[in-house]
Amino acid sequence: MPHEDYKEMLAAQALNALEAAEMRDLESHLQSCAECRSQLSEWEGTAAGLAFASLEARPLEPSRQLRGRILEAVRADATGRGFQVGSPLGVGARGTTKDGENSQRRPQPSNVVPLKQPRTWSSAQTWGAIAAGLVLVGLVASLFVLWRQNREARQELARLSAQVSDAQQQLGQQREAIEIVSAPGTRMRELAGTKLMPEAHAMLAYDKSGRAILMAKGLPPAPAGKAYQLWFIVGGKPMPGKVFTTDASGSGALKDQVPPEARNAAVFAVTLEPKNGVQSPTGEMYLTSAS
Ligand SMILES: [Zn+2]
Repeated sequence: MPHEDYKEMLAAQALNALEAAEMRDLESHLQSCAECRSQLSEWEGTAAGLAFASLEARPLEPSRQLRGRILEAVRADATGRGFQVGSPLGVGARGTTKDGENSQRRPQPSNVVPLKQPRTWSSAQTWGAIAAGLVLVGLVASLFVLWRQNREARQELARLSAQVSDAQQQLGQQREAIEIVSAPGTRMRELAGTKLMPEAHAMLAYDKSGRAILMAKGLPPAPAGKAYQLWFIVGGKPMPGKVFTTDASGSGALKDQVPPEARNAAVFAVTLEPKNGVQSPTGEMYLTSAS
């Protein structure tokens, strides 16, 4: 059985709810699995906490209503067996003779309902309360297990969805990059790191229509509120491009449109700017195509 299946048995084991064969299986798995051992001890702590909380909250004495219902049930049982007051024997005896009336005033053993059965009552009360407590512990524990599984499943789903969407985005960017790079007449320009970050570099590819993709590597993470911005510099005059950020490895990509006047002779540069970009550069230059 895989480790995951054993994990599902741990809560049941903590509540002593496993069959003997399952328990033996689980115990042999526990000898070789530290993760399951530590989860089991967590579950045992939870189960003990639940049992304690439930006994604390519920005194072993049953409520007045429950006690009344038990008494009624026992009385009904006694009636069914002919032990009720006013049995046919008593009625028959009354009115026949004066001796009969006298005898009616003296209770006969067979006419008396046994109202006191202390041992039976207290034992039934105790077992009833323990059973109710165990049912409650079981319900709370199952709810807890379901809640936990549901929460883990949702976290896993969110993580996978984020991964899929990242992968799709990357794939889309790569496809677009390949399209641009392989189109006839596409130009490639290399941007080198300035003295701020000499190991940084980037490639800018743009096709005849100006559709461009920039792929940068080795940039430090942009500080909060900042982003890298691309510039098209023609005749010393910078025209703003779009902004991008980098991932943890220092890589970033950007889709942009090179203005017509920058397609033939321009210097491309990247500076660090406020995260929404600016109309003319204010921050330091990290990358440039000027040699
Ligand atoms: Zn395991």
